[in-house]
Amino acid sequence: MTSARPRIAVGGIYHETNTFAVGSTGLDGFAAYQHFVGEDLRRMAGTRSETGGFLTALERAAATVVPTAYAAAVPSATVTHADYEVLRDAILTRIAATPVDGVLLTLHGAMVTDGSGDPDGDLVQAVRELVGPDVPIAVTIDLHANVSDAMASGVQALVAYDTYPHIDMYERGQEAADLLLGVLRTGQPRSIVHRKLPFMTAPGMQATDGDPMRDLISLAHRIEREGELQVSLAPGFSYADVDATGFSVIVSGADQAAVAEAGATMAAAVDAAKERFVYEALSVAEACDLARGDENRPVILVDAADNIGGGAPGDGTAILEQWLTDGGTGLVVTIADPESVERAIAVGPGASVQLELGAKTDDAHGTPVSVEATVLRVTDGRYRQLGTYNRGYEVSMGRTVVLDVAGNTVVVSELKAMPFDAQQLISQGIEPAEADAIVVKSAIAWRAAYGDVAGTVLEVDTPGICTSRLDRLSWSPARAAMLPHWTLPTASTDITTIHEAEDA
Ligand SMILES: [Zn+2]
Repeated sequence: MTSARPRIAVGGIYHETNTFAVGSTGLDGFAAYQHFVGEDLRRMAGTRSETGGFLTALERAAATVVPTAYAAAVPSATVTHADYEVLRDAILTRIAATPVDGVLLTLHGAMVTDGSGDPDGDLVQAVRELVGPDVPIAVTIDLHANVSDAMASGVQALVAYDTYPHIDMYERGQEAADLLLGVLRTGQPRSIVHRKLPFMTAPGMQATDGDPMRDLISLAHRIEREGELQVSLAPGFSYADVDATGFSVIVSGADQAAVAEAGATMAAAVDAAKERFVYEALSVAEACDLARGDENRPVILVDAADNIGGGAPGDGTAILEQWLTDGGTGLVVTIADPESVERAIAVGPGASVQLELGAKTDDAHGTPVSVEATVLRVTDGRYRQLGTYNRGYEVSMGRTVVLDVAGNTVVVSELKAMPFDAQQLISQGIEPAEADAIVVKSAIAWRAAYGDVAGTVLEVDTPGICTSRLDRLSWSPARAAMLPHWTLPTASTDITTIHEAEDA
């Protein structure tokens, strides 16, 4: 089956679908973020993405790359199934056109279409059907994958990130490629086990440098080392009301009995730790009060409920509105609002404009804020990521304006962009370290951008579809039973308690 130079197909579809988001995600959403078809996919070489990792490992092994197609969109609403099929078929037709010895796929693992709760599983099984039972497939997934049995079944490795904020895609890509190449070299197949734990956690509870994920990942690594296994944890994406939602443990390796045993051990450890997934937040008013009085700047105001990386619209106004009401200055906040961009561009830099800012996508993220703004600059909103999250990616916010609103800086863009790289602000002439406070529309991943400069970090209980209070969303009965009943994080009225808890 294997030639001296193995021919490895590379491709993927990457989408984290928030089924609570309004609207739908189509081909334009992928075209606006990352979309490479055929030979173009080689342009991902040198990025610190999974695909970048595949290409590095394949080059090292002198394998022949068969580029298929890779498409990624910013997390957003349910994908149109017909558009998913276009992206899927772009991969399948290129695999079908030439003999391949193995297949490497990059998935997010939490995509939902209007025709399928598990398109990732559909894609994996479609590839399997195409290449037959003997061609190995290895897959990378996000730590927020909602893993299904169809995604795991019949693949030789299903490798999730070990980090949140996610900064190890490149390494996990290489790991998956090396496991695939190992199967080809030795002819020894790997078995895989997927264990689903039926409970949900919010992103703010899942940081891998905190309790309990740090301990669970370190146990996974110990099991890997001792048993020559691959162990992945996917706490999942809890803003999707589908059957695959929940916490997954995936183990693969050559020794079937060892794989099964490790799967059971890891699943038991996760289950035992579930009540350690906790989260607390301040009310918007309390957080703004504290931030203004805190000299440890820039204070980071975490607007997790408007988490762009979780599919929220990025136009939430709750913190901005409170801040302006209180007369605060020195705040930096980003708002996706194409209508306001248009109006600001119409008056031009240096001019003033009256705007109803933000909160236009739906009714879940506050209300539009009436502001008198001065336009400081107009840009094309493009920047290249230079930090630890997918370094090398080119990102577009669409046309973007920087506004001064009563001594605060508001970056308003046509497209929402995940705040995972400081270039988002630096490219707009804003030095993050010099801000008094920065609103991040993110739960954890913002730390890849601003962790270095952050002063005090305040978790804020804002309204939005990525609320950490999962119980505030409306769930079908099967998911309602999986809510984290042991902790209902609430806005505190006792600030001292929270500080003590942080120090403990
Ligand atoms: Zn993720």
